[in-house]
Amino acid sequence: MPLAPRLPAPPEILAVLEETYERVLRRDPGEGEFHQAVHEVLESLGPVLAARAGLGEARLLERLLEPERQIMFRVPWQDDEGRVHVNRGFRVEFNGALGPYKGGLRFHPTVNLGIVKFLGFEQIFKNALTGLGIGGGKGGSDFDPHGRSDEEVMRFCQSFMTELYRHVGEHTDVPAGDIGVGGREIGYLFGQYRRVTNRWEAGVLTGKGMLWGGSAGRTEATGYGNVLFTAEMLRHRGEDLDGQQIVVSGSGNVAIYTIEKAQQLGANVITVSDSGGYVVDDKGIDLDLLKHVKEVDRGRVSDYADLRGSSARYIAGGRVWDVPADIALPSATQNELDADAAALLVRNGVKAVSEGANMPTTPEAVHIFQEADVAFGPGKAANAGGVAVSALEMRQNAARAAWSFAQVEDELAGIMSDIHATCYETAERYGAPGDYVVGANIAGFERVAAAMLAQGLI
Ligand code: GLU
Repeated sequence: MPLAPRLPAPPEILAVLEETYERVLRRDPGEGEFHQAVHEVLESLGPVLAARAGLGEARLLERLLEPERQIMFRVPWQDDEGRVHVNRGFRVEFNGALGPYKGGLRFHPTVNLGIVKFLGFEQIFKNALTGLGIGGGKGGSDFDPHGRSDEEVMRFCQSFMTELYRHVGEHTDVPAGDIGVGGREIGYLFGQYRRVTNRWEAGVLTGKGMLWGGSAGRTEATGYGNVLFTAEMLRHRGEDLDGQQIVVSGSGNVAIYTIEKAQQLGANVITVSDSGGYVVDDKGIDLDLLKHVKEVDRGRVSDYADLRGSSARYIAGGRVWDVPADIALPSATQNELDADAAALLVRNGVKAVSEGANMPTTPEAVHIFQEADVAFGPGKAANAGGVAVSALEMRQNAARAAWSFAQVEDELAGIMSDIHATCYETAERYGAPGDYVVGANIAGFERVAAAMLAQGLI
């Protein structure tokens, strides 16, 4: 896809952006999601590069697009029948200019280097927007935890950490969860790190349990943060969440706590989904039941529909975007909301879309929303609450302190409001009022670029 710059810039700058993008396509073939993430950022950067001539001499874009370090390793483990499996482990330490590399681990069969690089690249800008002194990284494995026993997951996590431990540390690189990695996996990973290093180094991982260095509110943070960001976007349009009909996709940690905060603020959330299909619940999602099905039984959304009674229907293979709503909060995975779905949501009168997942909206769909004047919150801003509370967890670990839930929630609300204001003001400053994609990309880039320039050619 050719670059379609979002903002005007001199032709020589546009040529640099084109060349930069083509170099990525050439040097990193087959990394489609990484290309997509880079494409979206480059489209925003024209005026910044034009304003700062020195960036070219510093080969800043070229350096920014090349991870500082990429680690790939073998992860052998044995299942309950004694069969040997060999998975692939990844950690991409993308950019450490603002602080230790920070970002989650994803365990999912689709994980490959291109996926980890796209997530790590997004994480650089997201983490910069939090203002909390964290660099960007990401990792994971093509291991599929679904259908595996606790013992199998433990053996896998132990094998994974037996290699990863030498690359991470509280001052080096601090992983956390993402899809397929929750409290259980972080526990096994932390245990193995402690065993092989013989150190109590709480700040090496975030998303830990409350009894052993975890932060109150970390589990809720991504979903809560996205709802707070959405509320800020609505407030700037003279509206709030009260009484709004919301469609949420996904049914993992992000979706569950998105629903919780949206309900607290008076909205009516009527859908959840998983890879099999979706549920529409006319009475609004029963959160206690959903939590039980997902967090206790590790079940499917079809089980929720079976247990809920007549208000809920399960539609196998369908997408939540077919259901009319005021607000859509994609909270499952990348590229889950395409142009057809966006056009349908717009026809059905959607007012705001905000990304709980990383890059769930395709570039064509983003374009359709923005053309129709739908408020659009890009994930690197809207879902930054999760990693922000991870940084607060690191702060508590360093101080050997534990904050209350109320204190963390308060900090999170301040951080999300600051991120919104930064994106909003940056977009205005560059002549693109209301364009949070431009605002997030430029504001994140400005911080990372300034730190990289100050630290010299490394
Ligand atoms: N995986 C989350 C994200 O996409 C959280 C990362 C973290 O807490 O380090 O931002």
